[in-house]
Amino acid sequence: MKSSLEDTLLTSIRTIPDYPKPGILFRDITTLLGDARAFRRAVDELVHPWAGSKIDKIAGIEARGFILGGAIAHQLSAGFIPIRKKGKLPHETVRVAYSLEYGLDEMEMHKDAVKPGERVILVDDLIATGGTAEGAAKLLRHMGAEIVSACFVIDLPDLGGRARLEALGVPVRTLVAFEGH
Ligand code: AMP
Repeated sequence: MKSSLEDTLLTSIRTIPDYPKPGILFRDITTLLGDARAFRRAVDELVHPWAGSKIDKIAGIEARGFILGGAIAHQLSAGFIPIRKKGKLPHETVRVAYSLEYGLDEMEMHKDAVKPGERVILVDDLIATGGTAEGAAKLLRHMGAEIVSACFVIDLPDLGGRARLEALGVPVRTLVAFEGH
């Protein structure tokens, strides 16, 4: 019997308790990425709503968003924008501070990575509090991008990230959810 997408994804994601800090259940997608069928199905499902529409760029958040975002960009014949931790990008950047589930940090993108009016999809593996994705969305909008959607394999709905992005007018799409954090 063909297993449902949700089953395939849920069984391919590994949970590591107390990583990187006590009390965190780390949802590890390296096992999903290592499973050819699960990886393909996740990417196909994230691409699906946009097949045939014009998407200029996929913006991926370091580091797991690069892996998913690269595959999605290829499928949609879109360009790829890396959104990176500060100090990693070689050319002129725009920078934003953001809060995440376990700390504070800054992220950057190249100033010339997106042109005003370009249609961009933001990609990461997981949305928790939404702080990371909100920071990335601010950078993209600051440079004039139209954020068509933000998409994630995993949602942690109890942490409210989806609502936080939707309040900014960013439509959110996720494939599976885990309770708690
Ligand atoms: P947030 O900014 O709180 O939405 O956190 C999202 C970012 O942190 C993403 O880049 C995730 O990869 C990572 N992250 C946060 N919580 C977890 C978790 N429980 N398991 C795996 N990754 C997480």
